[in-house]
Amino acid sequence: MNRKQKFEYLNKNKVFDFIIVGGGATGLGCALDASSRGYSVALFEKHDFCKGTSSRSTKLIHGGVRYLEKFQFKLVYEALKERDFLMKNASHVTNKIGFVIPVYKPLLKFYYWFGLKLYDLISGDSFFPKSKIINKKKVQELLPNINNKGLLGGVCFFDGQFNDSRLGIDIGLTAEKFGATLFNYSSVESFIKHNDIIKGVNVRDSVSNNIYEVKSKIVINCTGVFSQSIINLDYETPKNIIKPSQGTHLVIERRFLKSDFGFLIPKTPDGRVLFAIPWQNSVILGTTDNEINEPEIDPKPKLSEINYILKNVKQYFREKPEKTDIKTIYTGLRPLVADSSKSKSKDLSRKHKIFKTKSGLISVVGGKWTTYRKISEKTVDIALKNSDLKFLKSKTRKTKIFNGLSIIKNDKSISKIIDLSPSSIVHFVRNEMAINLDDIMSRRSRCLFLNVDESLRLAPKVVKIMAEELQKDEKWQNEQLKSFIELTKLYKI
Ligand SMILES: Cc1cc2nc3c(=O)[nH]c(=O)nc-3n(C[C@H](O)[C@H](O)[C@H](O)COP(=O)(O)OP(=O)(O)OC[C@H]3O[C@@H](n4cnc5c(N)ncnc54)[C@H](O)[C@@H]3O)c2cc1C
Repeated sequence: MNRKQKFEYLNKNKVFDFIIVGGGATGLGCALDASSRGYSVALFEKHDFCKGTSSRSTKLIHGGVRYLEKFQFKLVYEALKERDFLMKNASHVTNKIGFVIPVYKPLLKFYYWFGLKLYDLISGDSFFPKSKIINKKKVQELLPNINNKGLLGGVCFFDGQFNDSRLGIDIGLTAEKFGATLFNYSSVESFIKHNDIIKGVNVRDSVSNNIYEVKSKIVINCTGVFSQSIINLDYETPKNIIKPSQGTHLVIERRFLKSDFGFLIPKTPDGRVLFAIPWQNSVILGTTDNEINEPEIDPKPKLSEINYILKNVKQYFREKPEKTDIKTIYTGLRPLVADSSKSKSKDLSRKHKIFKTKSGLISVVGGKWTTYRKISEKTVDIALKNSDLKFLKSKTRKTKIFNGLSIIKNDKSISKIIDLSPSSIVHFVRNEMAINLDDIMSRRSRCLFLNVDESLRLAPKVVKIMAEELQKDEKWQNEQLKSFIELTKLYKI
C-alpha cells in the first residue's frame, strides 16, 4: 500500500488492536511483536522511522561489560541472550566484532580478563569466540596504530555490531509483512477517550496536514526521550520519568585504525568508557554522557564533547586524528529512566521501565537497542493483560527480519566512498517510505553518518532521482536541498 491508500484504509473506521506511538527501536519492535502474534497494528512516527535515538547509537549489540562492575548480572544476562537472537534473526545487518583492551598498568590485564571471563560465562554457549589475554606483540598486530609507549599487552574479546537504522527499517518492513500499517511523518497529537479510558489517538499527517481519528483497544507510548510529552497528553504530571543524556560520536577514516578490531578503554581518568570502533569503512570514536534538560529531535553536539573525545582518544593512537580528520559528528539522546537518588546520568541504569496509567496508556522507556525484542515482548504481554484481547504468545525469538536491500537491482554507486545506487534511491522511495532527502541520506543509506562532505556532494543527484519518482517539481527539490544543507551543519564543527 502507498501512503495515500494507507490513510484511506485508516478512514474506514477500523478499530485496531494496537496503536503504537513512535517508530524507533522500541515502537518498531512492538509493532513486529504484536503483528506477528496475529493482532492488527497501526504505528505512527512523528518524523521518519529511527530519526531519533535509534539511528544514533554506537551500533553495538552487547551485554554491557561495564555493568558487571555494578553487579547488574541480570541485565547483562538478558542482553547477551538477546545478542544471540538478534545475530541469528538479522544476520544481514549484524556482524561479530573483535575488541582489544590495551593495558598500560600491570595488574589491570588480569582484572579485565577476569571481568571478560565472567562475561563469557554469562553468555553461555554463545557462538562468539571467548576472550583471552594477549601479549604486547599481539596487541600491536591487531591494532597497528595503537600507541605502544608503556603498552604491556591487553585483553581481546568479541561482541556484536549492527547498522541501527537499517535494522529499524527492516523490522518495520517485516511488521508490514505480518499486516501492520506503519506511518512516518504522522504525529500523535491527542487521545480519544471514552469514560476516561483511552480508545485511540488523533494523528496529524504532516505531509498533507490532515488530521485522522484512529481507534484501538490498546495504545502503547514508545517515544523514547519524548515519552513525557505523550504522557502529558493523557494527564499532567510534575514527575519527570525520563532523564535524557546526550552522547556524541566522531567519525574518522579507517586508516587511523588499520584494522578490523576496535579498541576499548573501560575507564578514562574521569571514569568514562572510550572506544574506537571500525564501522562501514570508517571508525567511530566516542562517546560522551551529558545530562540535558529538553530533548530535541536533531540534537547538537557541544564543542566541549568533540574536544573531550578527541583529546582523550588521541593518547591511544600513534598517528593521531586531528579536528580536520573528522568526517562527521553525530549525537543521540539516551532515554534513561529517572532515579532521583542518582544524580549523574552515567550512574543511571540502562534498564527499561514499562508502566500503565489509569486511562490505560502503556508507556515503555529506557533500555538498549540490543534488548529491543525482549522489551517489546514484555510490553505487549503487559498490554494484553487486563485487555479484552485473547492472549497469543510472542513469536519474535524465531522471527527472521526481512532484508529490505535484498530486492534492489544491482547497479553502480553514484559515490566512490558510499554505496548508493540510483535503483536503491528509487527503492527507498517506492518500498521503504522515504519522503525527504534526509530519510535517504541518513537512515536508508548511512551517508550523513559517515561523511558530511560526500553527502553534500551527492544530495543534488539524490534529490533529482527522488523528484522523478515522487513527481515533484524544482521548487520542492530546492526546498529539500536547503533544509538538508541546514541539517548537515549539526554534523560538522
Ligand atoms: C549515544 C548513544 C549510544 C548508544 N549505543 C547503543 C549501543 O551501542 N547498543 C545498544 O544496544 N543501545 C545503544 N543505545 C541505546 C539505544 O539507541 C536506545 O535505547 C534506543 O534507540 C531507544 O529507542 P526508542 O525507540 O525507545 O527511542 P527513539 O529511537 O528515540 O524513538 C522514539 C520515536 O518517537 C517519535 N515520537 C516522538 N513524539 C511523537 C509523537 N507525538 N507521535 C509519534 N511519534 C513520536 C520520535 O520521533 C522518535 O523517532 C545508545 C544510545 C545513545 C544515545
